[in-house]
Amino acid sequence: MKRDAPPPAEAPARAAQTAGLDAATVLRRHGCRATKPRVAVMQAILDAEHPVGAAELAERAARQLAGIHEATVYRTIATLSELGIVTHVHAGHGPSLVKLAGDASVLAVCRRCGRIERVPQELVDELVGHLAEQRGFALEPGHFALEGICADCA
Ligand SMILES: [Zn+2]
Ligand SMILES: [Zn+2]
Repeated sequence: MKRDAPPPAEAPARAAQTAGLDAATVLRRHGCRATKPRVAVMQAILDAEHPVGAAELAERAARQLAGIHEATVYRTIATLSELGIVTHVHAGHGPSLVKLAGDASVLAVCRRCGRIERVPQELVDELVGHLAEQRGFALEPGHFALEGICADCA
């Protein structure tokens, strides 16, 4: 691997099986009835450029479906999670964030401003590869975010 290659642009790591699909299709593929609230929540998750908390998802879902109750959004997230469509990531001390189940990307969260960035996948792959080869450790990144100070806050 070339060491002097420029860092890759921050690529949204979409779950392969949901890439380019609309919310209703994703739901049906998982055997989930595509009700209006589910479609609104699912679309909000697909549209988010990085994992977001349930409260923000409720706001985003309300833009798709006016009048959707926050409790409905939370219940829908739980349903999507049970069906294996979404999972969560812990970023900082707040509530966990919702992300697509196949999204294996690692987040870096700023502990001052809370800004979230994706760690370039090739760096993550390199770390996973090294630990596997040298320590026999099967690292499963993605459930917790890394923490630090972003460029703006440094
Ligand atoms: Zn910051
Ligand atoms: Zn967890």
